[in-house]
Amino acid sequence: MIHVLAAAERNIKNAVGRNNMNTVIAKVDPNNIDRNIINEAACILKNGGLVAFPTETVYGLGANGLNKDACKKIYEAKGRPSDNPLILHISDISQLSKLISEKNDISEKIIKKFWPGPLTLIFKKSEIVPNEVSGGLNTVAIRYPENPVAKALIDACGFPIAAPSANSSGKPSPTLAKHVYDDLLGKIDMIIDGGSTVFGLESTIIDVSEGKAVILRPGAITKEMLEEIIDNVGIDPSILKLSSDVKPKAPGMKYKHYSPNAEVILVKGDKNNVINYINKCIKEKSEENKSVGVMTVDENIILYNSQNVISLGKSEDFEEIGKNLFKALREFDYRNTDFVYSECFEEVGEGLAIMNRLKKSAGGKIINV
Ligand code: AMP
Ligand code: MG
Repeated sequence: MIHVLAAAERNIKNAVGRNNMNTVIAKVDPNNIDRNIINEAACILKNGGLVAFPTETVYGLGANGLNKDACKKIYEAKGRPSDNPLILHISDISQLSKLISEKNDISEKIIKKFWPGPLTLIFKKSEIVPNEVSGGLNTVAIRYPENPVAKALIDACGFPIAAPSANSSGKPSPTLAKHVYDDLLGKIDMIIDGGSTVFGLESTIIDVSEGKAVILRPGAITKEMLEEIIDNVGIDPSILKLSSDVKPKAPGMKYKHYSPNAEVILVKGDKNNVINYINKCIKEKSEENKSVGVMTVDENIILYNSQNVISLGKSEDFEEIGKNLFKALREFDYRNTDFVYSECFEEVGEGLAIMNRLKKSAGGKIINV
């Protein structure tokens, strides 16, 4: 028997969403997994349906990764551009070889050290991977997640699960089942609520398809961590320079992303200048009857003259900041915020991933003070 979060919510579900589909919401304790729920979810996926599930990075929106019609439904539910490929999720390294056409020493080293975990690898694809997964590319993205709910679900299916983040395209990625519910209710068959995700930023993506390691998307597995096991870790130029003339190699990185309804503005510079500038903006915008939010760190929270200030964590704790970033961006939406001013972070370690997501949420807008 599926434990449904709230019966009342099921009724709302039938009334909202363009597809008017009933979405089952089932809670699963990652430390004591209810196999009945996992089997029900696997049954939906086997029949070509869509299930959102937790991973250690963000929630994923899953379909049978070898069924092109099922994968097409992911694009429809998310409103995702068709040239933005999906990641195939596996639950054992033995499942990798039939999905790819080439391995090399570099991929072997990375897999040994970082799988299962928050890391996706790009390989040359095998023939069984549908074009709907690879977005027409001759490569495929593969990840072996560590989250026990994700692992149990993939095991129960017996096929790789294709899953991008379970948000509406362009919105911040979901780090709670509630975020999935807000974006996809009535558009997908099931949401497995496994609580808050651990990392809160999407996986690091590394292209190993050309015999060297190139970071296409920064994440919790950092360049510095990779350099401990391999020499010459490259980084896609679009990550360092966010501009329309540098085309990212991961198609998804070219889209505006991670955006709440509010306009996000990043403010960079000496700490006092940043705080003074943001306080000046709070005053000016409030006089225009606009609601202003501030994204900051624990140490600075009391320095802003606004009721709508969210701290992402201690300034040195990039893990915590990464974990809270998307949740904070969504919170500003719940508070009907018009403008969000955010402090910037040093682009080292996980700071590179945090700033990458922040810059995208701001559409590249940074004010230097
Ligand atoms: P999401 O899971 O929502 O973060 O989306 C998957 C990300 O992986 C997107 O940014 C895609 O562009 C990227 N991706 C998937 N497959 C490939 C591939 N074959 N080559 C490069 N990037 C890829
Ligand atoms: Mg995504």
